[in-house]
Amino acid sequence: MAFLNLYTNCQLVRGANMSLLCDLQLLKFYHIPNDTMEVLQYLQQHSIEDGIMHFGEDNKEAIEGYIHFVVKKDMGFIDDHLLQQLIPVDFHWDSPTPVTNVILEYNEQLNYRNQFMADLFDLNVQSLEIRSYQPVSIDHLLPLLEMFNDTTLGVIKLMLPYDSSISLNALDAVVRKYPRLKAIWFHGAPVQKVERIFEESVTVVFLAKQVDSCLACGEINTMYFQSNIELFSESQHHNTCLNRKLSIDQNGYIRNCPSLPQHFGHMNEVVLSAVLQDPAFRKYWNIRKDDINTCRDCEFRHVCTDCRAYLETPEDIYSKPLKCGYNPYTNEWDEWTNNPLKQAAIDHYGLRSLVK
Ligand code: SF4
Repeated sequence: MAFLNLYTNCQLVRGANMSLLCDLQLLKFYHIPNDTMEVLQYLQQHSIEDGIMHFGEDNKEAIEGYIHFVVKKDMGFIDDHLLQQLIPVDFHWDSPTPVTNVILEYNEQLNYRNQFMADLFDLNVQSLEIRSYQPVSIDHLLPLLEMFNDTTLGVIKLMLPYDSSISLNALDAVVRKYPRLKAIWFHGAPVQKVERIFEESVTVVFLAKQVDSCLACGEINTMYFQSNIELFSESQHHNTCLNRKLSIDQNGYIRNCPSLPQHFGHMNEVVLSAVLQDPAFRKYWNIRKDDINTCRDCEFRHVCTDCRAYLETPEDIYSKPLKCGYNPYTNEWDEWTNNPLKQAAIDHYGLRSLVK
């Protein structure tokens, strides 16, 4: 008897009409029909011969094709038994810090050397995104980057307006000096492209799209999908955008995300511990994709990010993200801005000027 052993880091996610086979180790995902998913699921407990008997001799060639695909993509192997040593992955998620990621809307008029920032980055924050909607010279940002030299912060991403005077060589020199800087994104670039600097270890992304305010945030795009164990695990229990996120908007106010209306005081006036203890600050943390209308039926739900700031139905906290054009019932991507059912929400959020 022959058996297909699927590695346990390869996870099947069923959608309404299609499924996703996520390879959480090789960071890839494959869009597969639900019929294929059913076969792969069946083979996780039965031999290949039993599978062919169960699904019918007529489907033998197709089943062998699925198995060949899994083996060829290094997602499994054939053996004479199902290996018990392939222990199921534990998708429990936790973090030692109450804030794992921070967004800072940069404003050169604000002084970031304050107690709130010191307390925040004492918490072992993992990632920081510094965004600017206005042109800013890299030299202006250096004192801010300097602030994190003595912290445990792991990753900094810069999101800046495109500036033709900034060369890749100049950026290379900056990332060599500040190794936490792992990604630099320019918005409003004349050509959409991705470059790599610092011996290919840092990406520089040039986006054609203009990001001149937080209204541009929250787009759901396959470009942002990630198949990895961290996101997959977090997604089983928490919100994949807002869980343990803290943002400082361009006026210095603390929010869950810069696009959400509620703020929790100014960084110069509030104490971090009080913000973190406020139940309202944690309100979105546990809204999972499995709780969200439509997303719960979508095969991409555990590789997708979320958005709770712009919703298809603004008054429903469990509504699908407004800026998603995917329909998991037809498996078609449409331009979300053209959807007649989204027009009222586009007006509600004041997004009309962005979608014309
Ligand atoms: S329907 Fe939901 S889970 Fe699917 S792509 Fe859109 S936002 Fe992501």
